[in-house]
Amino acid sequence: MDIKAYGVIGAGQMGNGIAQVAAMSGLKVIMNDIKAEFVQNGLNTITKNLARSVEKGKMTAEEKDAVLARICPSTALKDMASADFVVEAATENETLKFQIFKQLDEICPAHAILATNTSSIPIGRIAAQTQRADKVIGMHFMNPVPVMKLVEVIRGIATSDETFKTTWDLSIKFGKTPALANDYPGFIANRILLPMINEAVFCLYHGVGTREDIDTVMKLGMNHPMGPLALADLIGLDTCLAIMETLYNGFKDSKYRPCPLLRKYVEAGWLGRKTGRGFFEY
Ligand code: NAD
Repeated sequence: MDIKAYGVIGAGQMGNGIAQVAAMSGLKVIMNDIKAEFVQNGLNTITKNLARSVEKGKMTAEEKDAVLARICPSTALKDMASADFVVEAATENETLKFQIFKQLDEICPAHAILATNTSSIPIGRIAAQTQRADKVIGMHFMNPVPVMKLVEVIRGIATSDETFKTTWDLSIKFGKTPALANDYPGFIANRILLPMINEAVFCLYHGVGTREDIDTVMKLGMNHPMGPLALADLIGLDTCLAIMETLYNGFKDSKYRPCPLLRKYVEAGWLGRKTGRGFFEY
């Protein structure tokens, strides 16, 4: 399917990154959030990223302006009426995502594909909120989106071959390498990553090591570019907790029990980089 207009729901750290790579690939992008201020924050981040690329000689100032001109800000979901493909990157909350998909199903043209960037919520549950389960799919980008090469493409039980192929091809058009995952809580990426992060939080909770030592062990001992606690701060501790809850509830297996310390930080509003404090201070 030929995609011309690409909608992005949520202009947070993932949404604005997705909007940036989509606009850089030449698509018209409609970037939506609940408040004009949030959309503007997203646009500011994209502008800063592109200005850095211009400084480094990776793009011209004219190209930067053309990319920015392709992004239309939106605070009304009905603006998605002109989108051929929408990716939802709103907060990781099942009830919220269900509402958004119900509304998108009513607003978007019949041919439009509705994708979600969810980290862990099963695609089939989201698809069941719509009358077009064959056109619902997971398009899971990694953080930071402009830098990371992977898109995990998740097929729901009812996702059609055409929807899958369009999403796969779009990931390649965005300069990414897609990998296919089947529809189980956490898919591949977060089924493996989040239990590791959660275990690092347990190490801190049990006093096995300091935050610095835990991260040093994983960086220097396992060659990870970032320690798990710093990575948790980058992902957002609220998002980490939400993913662990989805794994725990989805598999009913105690090995996915979120660490009480993770919950405590989230309850305190220590969500990581985005609030200036998580396991580390920013
Ligand atoms: P974020 O908190 O940075 O941004 C979420 C944005 O969604 C906010 O700006 C919020 O205002 C907006 N939003 C909330 N309700 C909305 C609505 N009804 N309509 C439109 N916008 C709405 O979170 P994020 O890190 O960008 O995560 C977004 C999604 O991406 C989540 O599903 C998350 O699990 C997933 N994800 C996150 C990461 C990561 O590393 N943070 C990686 C991959 C996927």
